[in-house]
Amino acid sequence: MTVGRRAVEGGRLPDAPSLYAASTDPVPVYPQLVGSVRADVAIIGGGFTGLSAALHLAERGIDAVLLEANSVGWGASGRNGGQLHSGQRRDQDWLEKRFGLDTARQLLQLGEEAKATTLDLITRYRIDCDWRLGLIDAVHSPRLVDDERRYVDKLRSDYGYEAVTWLHRDALAETISTEHYHGGRRDNGAGHLDPLKFARGLARAAAGAGARILEDSQVTRIVRGRSWTVETAEGRVDCETVILAGNGYLEGIDKEAEAHVMPIDNYILATAPIGAGAAGGPIPAGEAASDTRFVVYYFRPTADGRLIFGGGETYGRRDPADIAAFVRRHFLKVYPDMADTRIDHAWGGRLAITTNRLPFIRRLKPGLYTAGGYSGQGVALAPFAGKVIADAIADNPGRFDAFAAIPQRRFPGGRLLRYPALVAGMTWYALRDRL
Ligand SMILES: Cc1cc2nc3c(=O)[nH]c(=O)nc-3n(C[C@H](O)[C@H](O)[C@H](O)COP(=O)(O)OP(=O)(O)OC[C@H]3O[C@@H](n4cnc5c(N)ncnc54)[C@H](O)[C@@H]3O)c2cc1C
Repeated sequence: MTVGRRAVEGGRLPDAPSLYAASTDPVPVYPQLVGSVRADVAIIGGGFTGLSAALHLAERGIDAVLLEANSVGWGASGRNGGQLHSGQRRDQDWLEKRFGLDTARQLLQLGEEAKATTLDLITRYRIDCDWRLGLIDAVHSPRLVDDERRYVDKLRSDYGYEAVTWLHRDALAETISTEHYHGGRRDNGAGHLDPLKFARGLARAAAGAGARILEDSQVTRIVRGRSWTVETAEGRVDCETVILAGNGYLEGIDKEAEAHVMPIDNYILATAPIGAGAAGGPIPAGEAASDTRFVVYYFRPTADGRLIFGGGETYGRRDPADIAAFVRRHFLKVYPDMADTRIDHAWGGRLAITTNRLPFIRRLKPGLYTAGGYSGQGVALAPFAGKVIADAIADNPGRFDAFAAIPQRRFPGGRLLRYPALVAGMTWYALRDRL
C-alpha cells in the first residue's frame, strides 16, 4: 500500500479495492492540481479528517483547497469497519486513573460530540450511507466479565450514559449469532455505516459548499516563507494555513506530525450475501459488534446482507500474501459454522495509533495544524477533528484547545527504528489475547 500517483483509467482514478468500492456507484472525478493557486487554507488528505475540515471551512466562508494523492476516501476512511464508537479508545477507568475524573468526563463528552457531528453531517447533507443504530462490545475472556458488567453500571451511574445495557451470555449469543463470547455491552448510542459512501457524501457536500477538492494531487513538500507553499509535482498552493490530514499515509511531509502517530495495517473480509442483518439470518437485529481483544475483532452486517469481519493486523508495512486467508482464520474462531461460506472480498487499510491511543490534534507551528492517531475510533473522531480545526481557524478554539491539552509522546526511534520496537510491543499484546 503506497500513497502515489495513480494512472487515470478512462477518466477515473481506480479506487482502493474493497467491498465498498465494488458496490457503490461511480462518483464524479475531481480535477488534479495543475499550476499555481491561492487559498486561505490547504488541506493535505481527502479522508474524513480532511473532507470534514474542507466542508466546515467552506461553511464558514473560508476558501479551502483539499489535495488528495489518490481519490477521495482512498485511505482508511473509505475502507474501514464502519463502526461509530462512543467515547475514546481508552475506557473511562483508564482515563480517570491517568487524568482524573474531570478530564475523563470531558473526554467522554468530546466523544459524544464526535458521534453527534458524524450523524449531523449525514442528516444535514442527506448522505445515504446505510447508517444503522446499535453496537455491541463483546467480552472474549471469562476473566473480564465481572469488570465489564461493573463498567456498564459505572457508565450509567457515574457518567449518566444510559444508552448502555449489559447483555448476558445467552442473550448475546442470540443477538450476534455466535457462542464465542461471554457477555457484552450493548450501546444504543453507537452504530455503523458504509464508510466510502460517507466519505464521498462529505466530498460532495464540501464541494457544494465551495471547497475546491483536487484528486491525483500528491503533496511532495510544504515550505514556510511569509506564508505557506504546498507543492505537488504539477502545481502549488500558496496559503496562510495548512492542515495535515494524511493520518497513517502521511510520509515525508512533517517529522513532528509523523513521529506522534504510528501506522498499522488492518484487514477485513466480506462474505457473500447470506441474509445477515435480517430476520432468519446472522445478527438478525442488524447491530455491529467489536470485542475486548487487544487486536480487536469487529463485524457487522451490510445493507446487502453480507457479514463483514475485521481481524488481524500487520506492523511491518507488508500485506499478507493472501488477505482473505489471513482474516478467515480469525473469522472462523467467531463463526466456526461458516467454514463453507464464500468470501467475496478481502482488503486492508492503514490506520494510525498514538502512544496513549488518544488523538493527536495540534498546531505544530503558526498556520500548521495536524490531526490523526484516532487509534481505531476515526469514524467518529476524524470528522470531528476536521470540524474542531476548522473552528479553531475561524477563531473558535474551545474544542481544539481541549484536544491539544492531551499530553502526547513521540514514538521512540526514528522512522526506521520505530518499526522493530512496534512489532515487538504489539506482538506481545496480541499474544496476550490468546492467553
Ligand atoms: C481496516 C480498518 C478498519 C477500521 N475500522 C474502523 C471502525 O470500524 N471504526 C472506526 O472508528 N475507525 C476505524 N478505522 C480507523 C478509521 O478508518 C480512521 O481513523 C479514519 O478513517 C482516519 O481518517 P483520516 O481522514 O484521518 O485518514 P485517511 O482516511 O487514511 O485519509 C488520509 C488521506 O490522505 C492522503 N494523503 C496522504 N499523504 C498525502 C500527500 N502527501 N498528499 C496528498 N494526499 C495525501 C491519502 O491518500 C489518504 O486518502 C479503521 C481503519 C482501518 C484501516
